[in-house]
Amino acid sequence: MNTIELSEQYLMKTYGHQPVAMRSGSRSVCAAEDGKSYIDFGSGIGVNSLGYCNADWADAVCAQVREIQHTSNYYFTGVQAKFAQQLCTMTGYSRVFLGNSGAEANECAIKVARKYSFDRYGKGRGTIITLQNSFHGRTLATLAATGQDVFHNYFFPFPEGFAYAEANNLADLQAKLDGTVCAVMMEMIQGEGGVNVLDRDYVQAAAKLCAQQDILLIVDEVQTGVGRTGTFLASEQFGIKPNITTLAKGLGGGLPIGACLVDAVCADTFGIGTHGSTFGGNPVACAGATAVLERVSEPGFLESVMDKGAYIREALESCPEVEEICGLGLMIGIRLKTMKATDVLAAARNAGLLVLTAKDKVRLLPPLTISKEELDAGLEILLQILNP
Ligand SMILES: *Cc1c(COP(=O)(O)O)cnc(C)c1O
Repeated sequence: MNTIELSEQYLMKTYGHQPVAMRSGSRSVCAAEDGKSYIDFGSGIGVNSLGYCNADWADAVCAQVREIQHTSNYYFTGVQAKFAQQLCTMTGYSRVFLGNSGAEANECAIKVARKYSFDRYGKGRGTIITLQNSFHGRTLATLAATGQDVFHNYFFPFPEGFAYAEANNLADLQAKLDGTVCAVMMEMIQGEGGVNVLDRDYVQAAAKLCAQQDILLIVDEVQTGVGRTGTFLASEQFGIKPNITTLAKGLGGGLPIGACLVDAVCADTFGIGTHGSTFGGNPVACAGATAVLERVSEPGFLESVMDKGAYIREALESCPEVEEICGLGLMIGIRLKTMKATDVLAAARNAGLLVLTAKDKVRLLPPLTISKEELDAGLEILLQILNP
């Protein structure tokens, strides 16, 4: 049996697979087992932030694998300590908890918020408000946190303590802050929800409301973080400093790592034994993530992300099939006039370009390091499909 047949027989059928088996990759191009190659405008799903097998990243990871691959979190490691320092310093947060995924980072944030509130006010203030159309993960609690009914199915009973406010509707949020709420959680740009950028005024007013009532503000930057939008955190562009920020996807450059960053207000909410993860903060993942931070913090790097984002927008703007382009930096959503996003995805794949969709939009999350040549080659394919 070939790769696709084996996978279809033995893996649980949780993914709507594309009919391609990937073998290798370099820069922003990956190659399938059948020899066909693809320019990748998706980076996995915003994960391969430095592209495929970036040399500095691979060297750091391989060196760490040969040094020490794991020790329990009952011991310290230099690579984890230095990574935590660098991440906190770059973001201005006090402490970080390291896990393995976005969902886990959000679970951690939910737990911090509930314990913070419990420590101060006791029981009865455990509700987390999230936004309609949000996406926060696939664990039971993060599914419950996700503000989309389609995700609230099959797995009953879901954890309680989540309520959903309409995005960009301050009055609705205000009405839902009824004394039972410990935190508000939102994405600055709803990724899975369709690359919807929140209004800056709404975000700032929401942050103010939260601060007035000692409600923690959690920003889920699992997709938007680590330079994706042209600033290290997207929240910088909204002029807010959330109490908690979560990161994952692009943070490890392709290795599983998630981070829950906390500010001084809730830095010491967790004590010994209140949270943990066997693999969390794994030395190899930390080595890869350190290589990502090094690269993203190089002078001019984030400006280059902004420039490339503007370049893509400009190339697509004049295309008659394009109704609207949304997003920030290299997180781009394209609303089409007549074509279906899934048809564009399939046509692009056949022509050697990988794109993503988000709801009814085509979504682009290219590697932050993508070259001008790779961008041009990918855009040429995309424009040919949109202008047949
Ligand atoms: C992908 C994503 C998650 C879930 O991350 P996993 O690593 O798949 O658990 C959570 N929040 C947002 C905004 C995401 O885009």
